[in-house]
Amino acid sequence: MEDRIDFIKQKAIEEHIPIIMDDTLEVISQILQKNPPKNILEIGTATGYSAICFSKFLQAGGKIDTIERDKERIETAKINIKEMGLENTINIVEGDAVEILPNINKQYDMIFIDAAKGKYPFFLKEALRLLNTNGIIFADNILYKGYVMSDYNKHKQRTAVRNLREYIKQVTENPNLKTEILEVGDGLAISKFN
Ligand code: SAH
Ligand code: MG
Repeated sequence: MEDRIDFIKQKAIEEHIPIIMDDTLEVISQILQKNPPKNILEIGTATGYSAICFSKFLQAGGKIDTIERDKERIETAKINIKEMGLENTINIVEGDAVEILPNINKQYDMIFIDAAKGKYPFFLKEALRLLNTNGIIFADNILYKGYVMSDYNKHKQRTAVRNLREYIKQVTENPNLKTEILEVGDGLAISKFN
């Protein structure tokens, strides 16, 4: 199985699919190991690599819902998840998370935000609605190649940068959350319900 996960990872890297980085995964794994979630919501499946990695830390009978809008990636993710024997554990929700999230009415112990950077404030609003008490929200790519913490704002990705900064501001100022911003990988925001 480890071989298979490695193959899925290498294939994604070859195809320039921005999967979770090793050090980011390591940080999340350590937190989940101490506090195994019953269910996880992921925004941005890509080919299923991160969901497959997280599934190791679920409580018995735990489940992952993961949202993806790219048809080709969905097909690859389905194959990868089936190959891992995780088709009853990882459920791919197909479509745009902006439309899907408002229709979800379930509570999650962990939410992993890893999709369109310009939508992070919206994803946060929905994540706060869907998070269990004592739940945890991770947001990947929160420092976006260093652009977020620099004063350089003429970059063509400035909408993304503005929204990532807005996300950081909101999680930091929210009195119900305890937030850490880590410089692992492309930046990781960890917000725990206080
Ligand atoms: N979590 C994955 C990587 C996700 S890459 C891993 O670490 O293995 C980000 C993915 O989010 C891309 O596949 C992209 O198609 C998807 N995405 C971006 N914006 C989205 C949206 N609004 N709704 C659904 N999927 C989205
Ligand atoms: Mg990412």
